[in-house]
Amino acid sequence: MSDAATLPEEWSGYLKPEDMERLATAYQFSEAAHSGQFRASGEPYISHPLEVANILAKLHLDSQALTAALLHDVMEDTSVTKAEITRKFGKSVAELVDGVSKLDHIEFETREAAQAENFRKMLLAMSRDVRVMLIKLADRLHNMRTLGAVPAAKRKRIARETLEIYAPIANRLGLNNIFQELEDLSFSFLYPARNRVLTKALVAARGHRREVVGKVRDAITERLKQDGMEAAVQGREKHVHSIYRKMIEKRLQFAKVLDVFGFRIIVKDTPACYLALGALHGLYKPIPGSFKDYIAIPKENGYQSLHTTLFGPFGSPIEMQIRTQEMHKIAEAGVASHWLYKNSGASLNELQKKTHQWLQSLLQVQLDGGDSVAFLEHLKIDLFPDAVYVFTPKGKILSQPRGATGVDFAYAVHTDIGNRCVAVKINDELVPLRTELRNGDRVEIITASHAKPNPQWLNYVVTANARAHIRHFLKTMQSQESAQLGERLLNQALGTFKSSLAQFKEPQWKKLIKDTGAKSLEDLLSDIGLGKRLSVVVARRLLSLGDASTGERKASGPVMIRGSEGMAVQFAHCCTPIPGDPIIGLINKGQGMAIHTHDCPVIAKSRSDPDKVFDVEWSPDTKKLFSVSIRLVAMNQRGVLAKVAAEIAEANSNIDNVAVDSGDGDQYATLRFTLQVSNRLHLAQIMRALRRIPAVIRITRTKN
Ligand code: MN
Repeated sequence: MSDAATLPEEWSGYLKPEDMERLATAYQFSEAAHSGQFRASGEPYISHPLEVANILAKLHLDSQALTAALLHDVMEDTSVTKAEITRKFGKSVAELVDGVSKLDHIEFETREAAQAENFRKMLLAMSRDVRVMLIKLADRLHNMRTLGAVPAAKRKRIARETLEIYAPIANRLGLNNIFQELEDLSFSFLYPARNRVLTKALVAARGHRREVVGKVRDAITERLKQDGMEAAVQGREKHVHSIYRKMIEKRLQFAKVLDVFGFRIIVKDTPACYLALGALHGLYKPIPGSFKDYIAIPKENGYQSLHTTLFGPFGSPIEMQIRTQEMHKIAEAGVASHWLYKNSGASLNELQKKTHQWLQSLLQVQLDGGDSVAFLEHLKIDLFPDAVYVFTPKGKILSQPRGATGVDFAYAVHTDIGNRCVAVKINDELVPLRTELRNGDRVEIITASHAKPNPQWLNYVVTANARAHIRHFLKTMQSQESAQLGERLLNQALGTFKSSLAQFKEPQWKKLIKDTGAKSLEDLLSDIGLGKRLSVVVARRLLSLGDASTGERKASGPVMIRGSEGMAVQFAHCCTPIPGDPIIGLINKGQGMAIHTHDCPVIAKSRSDPDKVFDVEWSPDTKKLFSVSIRLVAMNQRGVLAKVAAEIAEANSNIDNVAVDSGDGDQYATLRFTLQVSNRLHLAQIMRALRRIPAVIRITRTKN
C-alpha cells in the first residue's frame, strides 16, 4: 500500500526495492506521529527526520540506519513507544532509535576542556552501535543548517556544544565532510563578524588563485602522464574554520594562510601512491621534514594518505595528499564506510581490513556470524568497552571501569568517602551500593560518620583502588580486634597458673617478643586471637621469664563474650547461639574464634582438644542483636502470616527472612523465620506470644 514516491529518488540508487518499501512505511509512520508539530522555521516537523536520513543516505548507510533516522525523534516528541517500534520495524531499528533518544537526555554543562573530552567519550560509550552516533551527528548537522530560525541565546549554546563536542566526535570517527560543515556552521553562529570577514576574503582570494591553481594542476597532470600513471588531480579548498584555526595556532595573517595551495591526487593502488610521490618530488622540490606516510602508519581514525609539501613555482608552498580511491572513501566517510550498503562491496578489501584492525584494537568489534548479511545485522561497536562515564553531583565526569559499583565510585572520589559510604543515589534514586554504574548516570554517595567498610564489598568492587583500601581497612581492624581477643585469651591462660597480665612489666614483655620472634606485642596478641599461636604456650613462656609460675595448671574463669568483638569472634551458622545458650569457643588457626552452642554436633570432634576449645561465657552487658531461626506449624488459612509477623514486631524483634511451605489444599502450613533477638529470654517471650495465636499449632527453635 505504501509507495516510495515521497522519498528522495537517489536512495533507490543503492537500496533494494524492498528496503525502499520499508523506508516509505517508516516515513508515513513518522509523518503521522509528528503530525501537527512544526519546526522553528515553520515547516512540518517531518522535514527534519527526512533530511537527517538523507544526510546518511549520502554516506550510503544501510536501510536500518535510515529507518531509525526517519524515526529518531518519535520516542522523544510523540507518544510512540520502543515496543511499538520493535513490533513494526524490528529490534535493531528500535535499539538505534532508543540509543539516539538516550543521547538527547544528557546535557553538557561545564566549560573545562578536560571535561569536554570525557563528555565526548561518554556520548560515544553510550552509543554502543556507532550508527547511533552517526544518526546523532546527522541530526545535529541538520539542526545546525537550520539554526538561523532558532532564538539567538539558544543558537549560541547549541553552536558552542557542536564546536566543543560533536565536531570533534565527527573528526574522531573520520567523517571529514560532516566535521568541516559542523565546524564552519558553529563558527558562523558563534563569531558572525569574523566569519563574514573571512568568508569574503576567501571568495575574493579564490579569483586570484584560480590561475595559479590551474597552472600547477596542469604541470602535475602532465608529469604523472609522462610517467605512465592514471590519476585524478583535484585542487583543495580550505574551509573557513580551519583557516581561522591555523591563523590562531600559527599566528599567521590571512594572506599567509591562504598562500598555501592544496592538491589531492587519487591513484589506482598503493604502489602508485609512492610512484606518484617520486614523480612529484622530481617536479618540485619537497620541503624537508614535511613528508608523512599515513599509508604505512594510518591515523587513529583509520585515515590513510601520503602527505608532502613542495616548493611551488610561485614561491608558495603546495600541500599534497596522495591516496587511492579506497583511502579516499574512508577519508570522506570515515567509520561510516563500514556501514556502506552491503551490496556495494560485501567483502572487505585490504585497506578496510587494516582500518578494521585499528577499529578492533580501539573499539573492539564484536562480530557475530560470518556472512555479509549477518555482518551488518550483528556488527556492534562498543567504542569504550572497558569504561563507563558518570557524573558527580557537581557535574564533573568520572571515568570508571565497566562493572564499577557505587563503592568503586565512592573510593574514586575520596578514600574517606569510600570508608564511610552507606548508600548511593543514582539519578536521584536510592539504590544498593553494589549497583553497577551505567554511562550517563548521576551518582551521589551517602556517608555516615560511624560507617565502616564491609567485607562483603570485596565480592563486587572492580577497581584495584577500592579493593586495596577495603583490604587495608579490614586488615587493620581485624588485627586490632584479634589483638583484643588475644589479650583476653592470654589473660585467661595466665589465670590457670594463678597469674595475670598485670603481673608482668615492660622488660618481660620485650624479652617475650624477642623470644617468640613476633614483630610487636600487638602482633603477638593478634596471633593468639587468630589461633596462630596457642595462648597456653605463650603464657608458659611468659611465666618462665619471671618467677610467678607454680608450674601447675588449674581451671580458671571463662573468657567473656560480648558480641562486639567484631571479626575476631564469629557466631557459628550451624547452631546460631544467642545469649543465654551455653556456649563454647573454638579457635580455628588463622581465622580467630567461632562461638558454638554446647550441644552443637559440629564441635563434637574438636571438643577434647584443649588447644582449640576455650571456655567462654556470655558477658551480662551484651547489647547486640543475634539471628535465630524458628519453625512454626499453623493452620493453612488466610492472614496467618500477617498475624505472626505482627506479633513478632509487637515483641520488638525484626524478621530477617521468611519461607512458607504449603500447598493449596494442605491443611497445615510450615513457616520458617529468621529473627533478630537479644537473648534467650527475648526469644522465649516471642515464642510464647506466637503460641497464643489460635491458628498456630507447633513452634520450635531450629538449628541447621
Ligand atoms: Mn532530531
